Amino acid sequence: MTLTGNMLIGQQAISGNREAIRGIDPATDLLLEPAYHGGSSEHVEQACALAWSALDSYRATPLDARAEFLETIASEIEALGDELIDRAVAETGLPRPRIQGERGRTCQQLRTFARTVRAGEWLDVRVDSALPERQPLPRPDLRQRQVPLGPVAVFGASNFPLAFSVAGGDTASALAAGCPVIVKAHGAHPGTSELVGRALARAVKLCGLHEGVFSLLFGSGREVGIALVTDPRIKAVGFTGSRSGGMALCSAAQARPEPIPVYAEMSSINPVLLFPAALQSRAETLAQGFVASLTQGAGQFCTNPGLVIARQGPALERFIHAAADKVRRSPAQTMLTPGIFNAYETGVGTLLEHAQAQSVATGLRGETPNQCQAHLFVTQARDFLANPALQAEMFGAASLIVQCASVEEIRQVLEHLEGQLTATLHLDDGDVESARALLPTLERKAGRLLVNGWPTGVEVCDAMVHGGPFPATSDARCTSVGTAAILRFLRPVCYQDFPDALLPAALKHGNPLQLRRLLDGQREA
Ligand code: NAP
Repeated sequence: MTLTGNMLIGQQAISGNREAIRGIDPATDLLLEPAYHGGSSEHVEQACALAWSALDSYRATPLDARAEFLETIASEIEALGDELIDRAVAETGLPRPRIQGERGRTCQQLRTFARTVRAGEWLDVRVDSALPERQPLPRPDLRQRQVPLGPVAVFGASNFPLAFSVAGGDTASALAAGCPVIVKAHGAHPGTSELVGRALARAVKLCGLHEGVFSLLFGSGREVGIALVTDPRIKAVGFTGSRSGGMALCSAAQARPEPIPVYAEMSSINPVLLFPAALQSRAETLAQGFVASLTQGAGQFCTNPGLVIARQGPALERFIHAAADKVRRSPAQTMLTPGIFNAYETGVGTLLEHAQAQSVATGLRGETPNQCQAHLFVTQARDFLANPALQAEMFGAASLIVQCASVEEIRQVLEHLEGQLTATLHLDDGDVESARALLPTLERKAGRLLVNGWPTGVEVCDAMVHGGPFPATSDARCTSVGTAAILRFLRPVCYQDFPDALLPAALKHGNPLQLRRLLDGQREA
């Protein structure tokens, strides 16, 4: 398939009229063909008008038809074959097996949402039957279900060019909810975005859906992105990226005459707590696992372990020694974009110059452009507490170890932390009571708590939470990974005293969709 450099507004391929965006091979800094001319507010207007006109027919699709659409998207992505893998590798510098794995995850994610749509639990049907004889007043018949919010704007993430981009988790969950989607492609992988966008548009056609169910725009966040978020027909936003980008979108969404939710996943340093018995029994093994997690994918994961917290002493010294040794032998890896590389170098530079952070190990240098050298730093708890800058995210393979003088200092460090996607506990049987004492704090700080594992690697399943208090996300009540992500794009509607003929199928008296309803206070079997 030849890449065209065009946007997709419904089924129409349209060339933008703004400055060209070009993919860059970050391993060589060479520009890739073709040029993608950015869209303007007129293109946003067209895509939003189309999405709005698609809303009522798309949200009325039977559950099976919507599930089949999600499955067709997955099949169309798979049908792209090696062309997609080749282009994604060239645009991101990520290793081929990683991109292949990510394609598998993207398609599995779409199929998982198809299963979720069919099961219908997300409709959360609640029925309170009429009580005409109730005294002093009768109760009307009340029936509730979830409906889609409306068209959703999705900002593709740079660090997951497939699983969190054009047909990634935000798009899959919004489409599953019944919302048309307009994607603002990330400029770091325009060719990958076009290929996936065309696969998605083909699925729209194959399934006989309104063309406005999906559009793909290229262009600058400040023009196309803000125009999308402020368009009155857009009713919610999904975003993964920087704190400044996420906050700019949140501010724009809040300033609208009709404010809308922005589900922004932004910044997290994912603390890892090493408890004394675990550290004593396996400091070296822990160090191995930690550095493997830290350096995986050049550390470009939102769940990267950027902070280690432990009580000072000989066992922690052993851990630091072993981790430093492994970091020094870590090969440099290509980062996703020159911009992300520069941001990493700036963040690491700030720590290298910081009087209260000591550099204990630096990874191997790379000879080619945009090479991430791993870094390990150590600081004291009192310095960490006194310097908020020490908890800034360094997006890449850098981490800071905080040495604490007491259990109380560990608790203070945790209290001082901003909101996180994850918090990890390494513990043995003898540590359980100390861990229990910290759980209330950890539950307030993070969306996912893990024991004796590493935070990188996020399962797409029903129980996953990939979310957390600010600044990990802009809305701690939700997850952006896993089937519960669908809930972000729904709202409840209650139908009072509707005749059966007028009720939607999900709420009819005979329960034709065979949903497990909450019927007069009892969950149906
Ligand atoms: P980004 O700069 O936040 O960009 C993400 C998307 O948001 C792009 O489409 C961008 O458009 C748009 N955008 C950014 N600022 C905007 C603004 N003020 N108004 C409107 N739209 C805006 O993220 P990135 O390019 O992926 O990476 C930059 C940094 O973000 C990294 O160095 C890292 O620190 C952080 N990051 C964090 C995570 C995480 O999961 N925690 C993931 C990825 C990146 P343009 O292309 O026009 O700028």
